[in-house]
Amino acid sequence: MFQKIKHIIDNGKKFLITTHIDPDGDALGSALSMHWVLESLGKKSVVYLKDQIPYRYKFLPAPSSITHELPKDRFDAIFVLDCGNLFRVGDGYEKLRELGTIINIDHHDTNETFGEINLINTGACSTAEVIYGLFHSLHVPLSYKMAINIYTAIFTDTGSFRYENTNSSAFLICEEMLRLGVSPSYVSQMVYENHPKERFRLFGLILTTLETYDEDRIAIACVTQEMFKKTGTSREHSDGFVETLREIKGIEVAVLLRELDSNKYKASMRAKGNVDVARICNVFGGGGHKSAAGCTIDGNIEEVKVKIKGALSIEADI
Ligand code: AMP
Ligand code: MN
Ligand code: MN
Repeated sequence: MFQKIKHIIDNGKKFLITTHIDPDGDALGSALSMHWVLESLGKKSVVYLKDQIPYRYKFLPAPSSITHELPKDRFDAIFVLDCGNLFRVGDGYEKLRELGTIINIDHHDTNETFGEINLINTGACSTAEVIYGLFHSLHVPLSYKMAINIYTAIFTDTGSFRYENTNSSAFLICEEMLRLGVSPSYVSQMVYENHPKERFRLFGLILTTLETYDEDRIAIACVTQEMFKKTGTSREHSDGFVETLREIKGIEVAVLLRELDSNKYKASMRAKGNVDVARICNVFGGGGHKSAAGCTIDGNIEEVKVKIKGALSIEADI
């Protein structure tokens, strides 16, 4: 597969790189390192993101112009990174196929192999691990700009080397990135210790909604549009809070529900132990990994909670 992709890159001139909505560190680090690699090979590369870069990832070296509008021109190939399915790219994703050959590079268990070329490794800790392998086979010497993007992708997707997806490649690749000049304390401060104080006011409100069920094996909390308004915050300020809920003793599934509109919620699920939240999110048309997954659920808050508890009892015997 690496050779097939190498052939397309060698023979092409112009590439589009994209990733999922609500981009996380792996999405951005993978897309941006891919950009610097294509540029170092003398290729034209355009990065398309449906959403803006969240404040905590603004330190990542990025091209001066990232497009937030889907381009109209054709490309020799389109790299879709860290997306389990094509609709994760965001509204208008259907038009992507008209722009060129889709190369799907990912590590999600639920990947739907939607590309003409699919480079999927569900055993990889991150998409960055998969593309690091690709960069290696392209014989590209890695620069600092590539290294800090790769390091940040692996560091964040493994939850700072704490989650079950943390493997020996995570450490080996990151060790190499350190030798290329990456400072772990700098990345950590940028990602985790650089929040506006409003984020903590928002946390206070979210915490008042916390409920636990089944002898504290499930935790559910929610964040509403009203809370964002009241604290002057937005979606990016609630990122990472679901991981905090996972810290509760005995919790097997932590769920954070984010109100999209009055009858639609985005559920972020995290598991500790044996429950497979990707399978639960799949029931609602979403997906992800065994211990970290997401989906969108229709209904008011009480209906959504009932649906989740129902799916948990069927899928996970909770
Ligand atoms: P999140 O809860 O949005 O942080 O996502 C957790 C994991 O599940 C990430 O790896 C996401 O890429 C994946 N994920 C989130 N939402 C969806 C969805 N609707 N469909 C497929 N995968 C998703
Ligand atoms: Mn991701
Ligand atoms: Mn990922």
